[in-house]
Amino acid sequence: MGNDDCLFCKIVAGEIPATIVRETPRTLAFRDIAPKAPVHILVIPKEHFGDVVTLAEADPEVTAEVMGTAAVVAEYEGLAADGFRLIFNTGPNGGQEVPHAHAHLLGGAPLGPMLS
Ligand code: 5GP
Ligand code: ZN
Repeated sequence: MGNDDCLFCKIVAGEIPATIVRETPRTLAFRDIAPKAPVHILVIPKEHFGDVVTLAEADPEVTAEVMGTAAVVAEYEGLAADGFRLIFNTGPNGGQEVPHAHAHLLGGAPLGPMLS
């Protein structure tokens, strides 16, 4: 099921350590190794999908579970009141570096307008 060369599949398999903040049957949330905000958490499907488009087309239920995990983690991390940002970088123009679908959950400070 995992992709042997994929960094995030290795995190799912426990072969690379990560600070896990929440696990559900089909999703995992863990802290980004190089945080770009006071709170920066990645939410992924445990199964390998190359990007969010592939994920959404292949498995709407897991897509919803990723969104649900992100929402619960945002609450637990105290981000719900002041807000946060949820991003799926996709493909080269989107700046995606790890080819396993993932949502970035960013918050804990004003992040400013994204496009400026
Ligand atoms: P992308 O650019 O693909 O949207 O984001 C990939 C993210 O994965 C980056 O924010 C990067 O800091 C994070 N990252 C890369 N390698 C590791 C790692 O080994 N562990 C963790 N926890 N995050 C990583
Ligand atoms: Zn993978």
